[in-house]
Amino acid sequence: MRASDLLKSRPEGLYCPPGDFFIDPVRPVERALITHGHSDHARSGHSSVLATQETLDIMGLRYGEDFAGTTQAATLGETVDINGVAVTFHPAGHVLGSAQICVEHKGMRIVASGDYKRQKDATCLPFEPIRCDVFITEATFGLPVFRHPPDHEEIARVLKSAAQFPERSHLIGAYALGKAQRVMRLLRDAGYDRPIYIHGALAKLSEYYQSQGIELGRLEPGTVESGAKADFAGAIVVGPPSAFADRWARRFPDPISCFASGWMRIRQRAKQGGVELPLIISDHADWDELIVTIKETGAAEIWVTHGREEALVRWCELEGIAARPLHLVGYEDEGD
Ligand SMILES: [Zn+2]
Repeated sequence: MRASDLLKSRPEGLYCPPGDFFIDPVRPVERALITHGHSDHARSGHSSVLATQETLDIMGLRYGEDFAGTTQAATLGETVDINGVAVTFHPAGHVLGSAQICVEHKGMRIVASGDYKRQKDATCLPFEPIRCDVFITEATFGLPVFRHPPDHEEIARVLKSAAQFPERSHLIGAYALGKAQRVMRLLRDAGYDRPIYIHGALAKLSEYYQSQGIELGRLEPGTVESGAKADFAGAIVVGPPSAFADRWARRFPDPISCFASGWMRIRQRAKQGGVELPLIISDHADWDELIVTIKETGAAEIWVTHGREEALVRWCELEGIAARPLHLVGYEDEGD
């Protein structure tokens, strides 16, 4: 069987003709397999959804319980038969519940990894390399300039700044699913034991993470109405990046703006966004992680999606690995 007969791009997303299902479709479809809960991958309105229990729960929290006609929970490592196609979910290390989807039929095995990273993250299971014929990789940070430093070193910079400026507040911009909880957990692992103040948009997901046994310590609402401005002197506040432009952010005392993202490697980008303390913390693989992962899968062919495809395709070719960009539309990862 040819790989392109097992999975192919369609306007709705990545489609498997023999199995008659889509992976992370961007439009409503009959049967959707979903890698993780970020909104560009997990959309509402499908007739049926197969995903890990955590991803189903996250979709329920974001879209309401009726986000799909029917749902089925995929157990990691357990194969499900869909119209004769063997489908297995494996951890992707991206956010809680994130999975790679392995699709196998007539001797051809393709792994669609969704979004992934290799850095250790206490808030989700680590990525598991799966041997396959074709590996579909993201390339959000697919340029050699992107090398993420150890995350605990980045968090140490916040704590150092907080100690240096005890009268100011530190506002950390972090995406609501995954990044925010990872930042909180990193603060805890670094020994920070004061309450962490959070924007309302993070409350439900953070509570959900805690219900799944991921300790985030004491979280308090980051609303200035509930206390005087001075109460937030020295506080660490976490909110979604979108909240930083509005009035909410201006209520804190002399805030130092921090932003946790892989894009913070690009100094210009931090500057333009008015970020004083850029934190290079990403939930996507950096260049080295992409390379290592491609090698570990042993795949003879690589399909590259959403990101800087050209450099990675070129690298594969130089290594003697067949590679091509897979042009899928509609993926603007919310969790970079
Ligand atoms: Zn994602």
